Amino acid sequence: MSLLLAVDGAVVEFQARKGLLGSVPVRALDGVSLRLDRGETLALVGESGSGKTTLARVCLRLQEPTRGRVSFDGQDITHWTAKRLQQFRRRSQGIFQDPFSSLDTNMTVGQIVEEPLVIHGLRDGRQEAVYKALEEVKLTPPQEMAAKFPHMLSGGQRQRVAIARALVLQPELVVADEPVSMVDASSRAEILYLLRELQERHGTAFLYITHDIATAYHFSQRIAVMYLGRIVETGATREVIGNPLHPYTQALLKAVPEPDPDNRLRRRAVVEGEPPSPAHPPSGCHFHPRCPYTFERCPVQAPPLLEVRPGHWAACHLWPGADVAARLGEKPQKG
Ligand code: SF4
Repeated sequence: MSLLLAVDGAVVEFQARKGLLGSVPVRALDGVSLRLDRGETLALVGESGSGKTTLARVCLRLQEPTRGRVSFDGQDITHWTAKRLQQFRRRSQGIFQDPFSSLDTNMTVGQIVEEPLVIHGLRDGRQEAVYKALEEVKLTPPQEMAAKFPHMLSGGQRQRVAIARALVLQPELVVADEPVSMVDASSRAEILYLLRELQERHGTAFLYITHDIATAYHFSQRIAVMYLGRIVETGATREVIGNPLHPYTQALLKAVPEPDPDNRLRRRAVVEGEPPSPAHPPSGCHFHPRCPYTFERCPVQAPPLLEVRPGHWAACHLWPGADVAARLGEKPQKG
């Protein structure tokens, strides 16, 4: 597989309003780097406020980073103008969490799915492309579905329209930001399976953004865990979920619901403590006020992201990383 998208050291800072009187600086991304190969699925996992959506916007170049670089297919697109970004927009698409606000209620489903083809001046075979996209997301019969308006559809059907609209241009990159979080529970699994089926059929690269590490397990080949603007752990999905190294990843996994004997889903635990505000990040390791293993170095020094096992990286002082091979199979030690 060859590299499609690269983000290097992305920092995003902005001023957030504070009361009537002033503003406070917020760093939404703090030196984030990631790579996405063609046809690969990378899941970006973290709680609300971790910076996932900001990173999604940077990857789609809807937001220019304050510092750092974004490259697509070998070209540095960090500072490209709207005109220059047109080709990139045709090759990359976003699917967002709210299927209610992301669709124009005055347009028919057919017009909504056709719109990207119109914007990019693709005239030939538009109607066939729209029907094909609707069939692919299982909105059938497509001629009938194309004539409907969004208010005539369920939440799950609306999200399928959003997916058809994203895929009608046959993009190489799709950024799906919490695509099932506002869909009713009965449609969630269906939509995730549909996305995986489409991803495999078309070889599209997917950046799948979620707060739910359980869905990341089923949907991704690699995973990156974010906490307050930083990636704190990343590696192959099976490795990260099977052998989580960072205490935050361990806490997210403990919070995954499990079935109880009455066949209902029961939450085992929640991540202890409130997520801190990006406007007032804790010093050193941002996770230290919530971490059960905090020790003297944690509030003082931010841990770097180091390769602890081959291809498995973590940012935690418990894992010095200097003698990686020797530490394989060992329990983490403080200091
Ligand atoms: Fe916990 Fe310290 Fe590791 Fe941060 S660096 S996750 S506070 S042990």
